[in-house]
Amino acid sequence: MLPEKDEFRQEVSELLREISNMGFLIHGTVRKHSMRCGHPGCKCHSDPPQLHGPYYDWTRRVDGKTKTVRLTEEQALLVEKWICNMRKVEEIINKVEKLSLAAFEKIKK
Ligand SMILES: [Zn+2]
Repeated sequence: MLPEKDEFRQEVSELLREISNMGFLIHGTVRKHSMRCGHPGCKCHSDPPQLHGPYYDWTRRVDGKTKTVRLTEEQALLVEKWICNMRKVEEIINKVEKLSLAAFEKIKK
């Protein structure tokens, strides 16, 4: 029977508790941009130009392909929050893995 690694176990429990409070998690990036259209007489071609937008695009990889979805500003704020949550969760998981490896070092001969 291997000894319990309580010193790491408690820290791991605290980290996992943080994850449980994180909410929705998604991958990707949100990009805000404005653009010119193809109509030469449009305000977006005047001086100074009044560009169309802003637009919000959420880009992520799905089955090896880049997928882009157009969002409203309101949606973009939420999606950015969920992306931020995912990054935090990934950081926490990395910490749990480091602690787990440290625990392994203790049970290793
Ligand atoms: Zn235009």
